[in-house]
Amino acid sequence: MPKKILFAISDTGGGHRSAALALTEAIRQAAGEDVNCTMVDFLKATQLPGIRNAPAIYNYASSRKVWLYDFFFRLTNDSRRMDRITNLLFPLAASRFEAEIRTVNPDLVVVVHPLLVRAICAARKKGGFRWPVITVVTDLVSFHASWAYAESDLCLAPTEEAARILAQYGVPPEKIIYTGFPVHPKFSTSHSQQQARQALGINPDAFTVLITGGGVGSGKMYDIVKTLEKVCPDKQLLVITGNNKELYQTLSAGRQPGSLTHVYGFVNNMETMMAASDIVVTKAGPGTIMEVLAMRRPLVITQAVGVQETGNIDFVVNHKLGFSCSDPAGIAQIVNRMTQPDAAWAVNSENLHKIPADGAGKIAGLIRERLASLT
Ligand code: UDP
Repeated sequence: MPKKILFAISDTGGGHRSAALALTEAIRQAAGEDVNCTMVDFLKATQLPGIRNAPAIYNYASSRKVWLYDFFFRLTNDSRRMDRITNLLFPLAASRFEAEIRTVNPDLVVVVHPLLVRAICAARKKGGFRWPVITVVTDLVSFHASWAYAESDLCLAPTEEAARILAQYGVPPEKIIYTGFPVHPKFSTSHSQQQARQALGINPDAFTVLITGGGVGSGKMYDIVKTLEKVCPDKQLLVITGNNKELYQTLSAGRQPGSLTHVYGFVNNMETMMAASDIVVTKAGPGTIMEVLAMRRPLVITQAVGVQETGNIDFVVNHKLGFSCSDPAGIAQIVNRMTQPDAAWAVNSENLHKIPADGAGKIAGLIRERLASLT
C-alpha cells in the first residue's frame, strides 16, 4: 500500500502551493508510486466566514491595502497570542478539519503555511491521530511567530537565519533542520535560453526582462513596465500578472502584434519564463527569489509586500545575491547597465553556491526517512 502524505496549505499568495508542489515532485522522483501526496487548503476548509476567504483577502490586502495586512501580521505575531487564537477558533472548525483528514487518512502531515501549524497539531490531538507533523517554513528570514511550534515533530528551515529564529522562538534545537528552500526540481540550470524563447514564440535575440509579482501580481508592476518600455524600448518584457486580472487587462489593452512586451496571466511554466529571460525583476516573494537563484538569473528585488518579506530583501542584499531597487527609473538603469559589454553581475558566486540547490530533495529524503520509521 502506498504511504499517504497530506500537505496542509492555503492559497494566500502562490508560495505555499508552489512549495507543496515542489515537494510532491521531489517525493515522486525519489519514491515513485510508493507515496501518494494530497493537498488541502485548510483555511478554506474551515468554512468560517473571514477565514475561509483568506486567499481572497490576502489577494486584496497585498495588492491594495498592505497596511491592513501588516496590521494583522503585527497584531498576531506572538506565540502566546497565537495559542489563544487557536484555542478560540479551532473548536469552531475542528469537525471540518477532522473530516478532511479522515478523507485522506494520511501517514504523515506536512504543514507549509504558518497559520496552520497549531491547528493541525490541535486536530491531531483531538482526533487521537498518531501521524507525525513536519513543518516546512517557506519564509526566508523575517517570519510570523506562528511558524514556530514545539509540538510539530520537525521544523525545517530554508536558511541558516530561519533556523536561528526558530530556536529563538522556542522550538527545541533537535527538531530544527536547515534543509534549504523547497524549490521545484524544474527550476535548474539545465534549460536552454534559445529553446525557451522558441517555446514561448518570442523574439529570440532581444535582451529579455521578466517582471513578476508573486501569485497575486502585486508590487508596482504597472509603473515598472511603463518605465522600462519608455527608457529601454529595445528590451523584451515578459510580464506575469499572476491572479491580478485588472493588471492583466490594463497592460494587455491596445497592444499591437509585434510588441516587445508580452503580458501573461497566471502561468504554470515559470521555469520556461525564467529560462527565456536575462534578468528577473520581482517583489520580495521567497518562492520566486529562490527559483531565480536556482536558475542562476540576475535578480532585482523591487519591494517587500508585507512585513514578512522585508527580511528577504536583506537576505538577498547581505549575501550579495542580487540588487534591491524600488524606483522604476533605477530598475531601468540596472537593466540598461546589464547589457553593456563590460557588465558584471554583482553577485557573489561563492555565496550563491552556498545556498542549498536541492532543498526539495533534502526535505523529500527526511520525509521518506520519517515514513520508513513508522513501519
Ligand atoms: N507563480 C506561478 N505562476 C504565476 C505567478 C507566480 O507559478 O503566474 C509562482 C512562482 O513561481 C512562485 C510562487 O508562485 O513559486 C510565488 O511565491 P512567492 O513566495 O514568490 O510569492 P507569493 O505569491 O507567495 O506572495
